[in-house]
Formats: sequence, structure tokens, C-alpha cells
Amino acid sequence: MRKIAFGYSTRCNIKCEHCVAADAIPVNSKMEMAQAKKIIAEMASAQVKGVSFTAGEPLIYLDDICELISVCREYEIYTRVVSNSFWAKTPESADRYVVQLKENGLSQIRMSYSRWHQKNIVRRNIVNAAESCKRNGVDYFVSFVTDFSEQDDNLEDYLRKHNIRFFPEPVIFAGRAESFERIPIRTDYQANCCPMNPYLAPDLDMFACCDAGSHFTNTNFFHLGNVKDSSIDKLFSKSETNSLYNHIRNLGISAIASFAGFKAREIIQYRKCELCEKLFNAPEILGTLQKEAESGLNLLYR
Ligand code: SF4
Ligand code: SF4
Repeated sequence: MRKIAFGYSTRCNIKCEHCVAADAIPVNSKMEMAQAKKIIAEMASAQVKGVSFTAGEPLIYLDDICELISVCREYEIYTRVVSNSFWAKTPESADRYVVQLKENGLSQIRMSYSRWHQKNIVRRNIVNAAESCKRNGVDYFVSFVTDFSEQDDNLEDYLRKHNIRFFPEPVIFAGRAESFERIPIRTDYQANCCPMNPYLAPDLDMFACCDAGSHFTNTNFFHLGNVKDSSIDKLFSKSETNSLYNHIRNLGISAIASFAGFKAREIIQYRKCELCEKLFNAPEILGTLQKEAESGLNLLYR
């Protein structure tokens, strides 16, 4: 199913220390409204079934986002908004936003939560937002961004205490988090397959990966093209037919790293996106992998 992270604007009202979206792109870049609507219509023709409004803080532009959600509804496209919940200071203000979003057809809200977000947004906002969603019948979940350190235990306890639906999500060491200290991880040798949903930036550049992918500037490995030069359908097809991307989806990054000569002992030390960066943002390794995409890598499937 075709889904996309839709970056209407990179503007945000807070400045989280771990933000991936920041620093690589202009702070206040924003799409033209008419263009955004046209693109959604084109996405519908290209069989896109899900749009997630993301990038900076989408709900700074509540009215615009509602209008775009309502356009998606006309085309029966599932919609999600990713937000820092700045708008949920009180149950009343939370209801105002949630009800307006629901009336325009929003399918789901994903609230971002972490010790970095919560330096700027009091955590009570997350509870207000979640309770408002429950009250008003809007699907929600909290994305609990963590580096898995003990410091985050009390944040997790807070979500449990308030009976909030949440999913832990590893912090991505890119953007402002690039220089963060990494605590060693203890886990199994995992496949590290990645579904790779594309991301459309406000300047209409489209990337095959919606998370750290736009930061691979040495190789621009995930850059698919610009919507001004190519149709949405073509850009999606490019993502779907690229052999290396499909190996990332199906074979997994660990197997690709092993193929590239990384020792198993080394592979387990990296988080998924870090390992991905080691492979695909290094021109020499990428060159080798591209040559082997249709041959050697195909032999690794079990
Ligand atoms: S992580 Fe999200 S809320 Fe924080 S600065 Fe970045 S876009 Fe804004
Ligand atoms: S593993 Fe690679 S493709 Fe997947 S989200 Fe991370 S950077 Fe993107």
C-alpha cells in the first residue's frame, strides 16, 4: 500500500535537542496551499492510501492542515497528524483541536513524547491530548522517543500511570542528535528490515525514507527526485523498483552489512539507521552494493 510522510512545513514552535528534521533543511520552508492540494489529488490518482502530516509541527497551521485532511477525505485517503501536542494545555483547548481535526476527517493523531520534547512541552499536554482523543473518538498513539537509558524510566511510567497507548521508538542519531552519546545496546542479531515510507519535503523533493534518509548527503541515496520534474507515480515506482531499497525492505540491513564485510560483532553495536548510514552514505561501499544489487545480494535470501 502506498503511504507517504507529507512535509507541509518544516516550521516548529519548539527546538528539541534531538530533532532529526532540523538543521539540514531551511527552518521555515512551507508548501503553497494550492500546490499541496494539487499534489494530494495527484497522490490519489497514484493510489496513495495513507498520508501522514509531519516535518516540523503541522498543527501550527491548523486550518491549512484541516483543509488538506478534508481533501484527503474526498479521495478516501487515510490521514495521520504527527504533533508535539503544544495545543493541549487544557482539556478544553485539546478538545478544540481534536474536534476540528475530526470534523475534517482525520483518522489518527500521533503524539511525540520524549525527555527532549518535554523540556518544551509539559507532559500533562500529552495526557490532555490522549484523553481528548478518547473522549472524541479519534484514534491516537504516543510515540515515545527514547535512547533506552534509565533517565527515560519515569517518562514511561507516566504514560503507564495514565493508561496511554504508546510505542517506544529509538531516537535517530541524525540532525541535532548526530553528536549524542550512544549508550551500548544489548540485543539480538536482528534482520533490521525497514519498510521505508517515502517523505515529501516542502520544496517538493521526495525521499525514499521518511526518517534519517534526507541526511545521507554524501550520496543522496534516498533522494528520488522532485515533484516539479516527475510525477508522484513515477517517484513511487522508482522507490518500489530499486533493487537496493527492496533489499533493505526484505533482506534487512544486517545481512547487507554482513555482505559488505562488517563483522557480526560490529553489526550488533549499531542501531538500524546508524548501520544504514554506514552502508549507504559511504560512496565506496554504496558503489559496491549497487554493483551487487542484482547478483550477490540476491543469493543471501534464505
Ligand atoms: S522533534 Fe518535532 S517537535 Fe521537536 S523540534 Fe523537531 S519537529 Fe519540532
Ligand atoms: S534504516 Fe535506513 S531506510 Fe530505514 S528509516 Fe533508517 S535511514 Fe531510513
